[in-house]
Amino acid sequence: KGRVEVRGFGLTYDTADGATDAVSSVDLTVEPGEFVSIIGPSGCGKSTLLNALAGFLKPTRGVVTVDGEPITGPSADRGMIFQQYSLFPWKTVRENVEFGLKMKGMGRSERSRAARTLLGLAGLTPFENHYPDRLSGGMKQRVGIVRALATGPRILLLDEPFGALDAQTRLIMQQILTNMWQRLKISVLFVTHDLDEAIFLSDRIYVMTARPGEIKAEIAVPLPRP
Ligand code: ADP
Ligand code: ADP
Repeated sequence: KGRVEVRGFGLTYDTADGATDAVSSVDLTVEPGEFVSIIGPSGCGKSTLLNALAGFLKPTRGVVTVDGEPITGPSADRGMIFQQYSLFPWKTVRENVEFGLKMKGMGRSERSRAARTLLGLAGLTPFENHYPDRLSGGMKQRVGIVRALATGPRILLLDEPFGALDAQTRLIMQQILTNMWQRLKISVLFVTHDLDEAIFLSDRIYVMTARPGEIKAEIAVPLPRP
């Protein structure tokens, strides 16, 4: 479970001052449990593609399926993480993580247990009762990842999640993400404009051309993971 297939995907934005061809044609596959990155220059349509996979945007052309089913909108099957941490400031760390579980109708003690387990895996136990404004950028992003994972998605979509972090925090976050991915056996699609980061993290990398984006190359990464 967790297979993503994109065939002939294209997206054109219609705006007041005309149409912007953001993505021309993309074919890609993420096998269950695979860690795949997409790299390409700024503006080539990486976020557009990821937002379509999340179900926030409708493809203009082509088909996007998850486990054979066409995507029709956002779903708890697909967790999305943005560059800007989008935590609820009025909720504690643990309440943030529990939010999606509450929406799914999970009872108080069960969701508290589930949240605590994941927070532990991410080294966040000492911070579970803190409010986001007391946390550093890296910590907030850590909570964001845990929150996206809490509902048990089969696929994690990350849009330049570590772009705003300093080098050392970035390294820690890359290790936490790798850890969670290996433990939870989910599929990951990771967008970055940093080739080093993509090589460090992925099984496979798709390289996109400048806008309107299409896949220019596919690289299998033969290196062992950290
Ligand atoms: P990337 O993530 O690779 O930087 P984006 O997907 O954000 O690229 O953007 C691709 C192109 O589409 C860019 O030229 C961008 O300006 C344009 N674009 C993105 N979002 C919109 C939008 N909502 N309306 C119109 N144009 C957009
Ligand atoms: P990134 O390069 O990190 O993907 P952008 O700066 O391209 O981010 O876009 C940030 C936000 O602005 C996105 O939500 C995108 O949809 C929107 N956006 C980008 N370009 C345009 C545009 N030309 N018109 C309207 N919205 C846009």
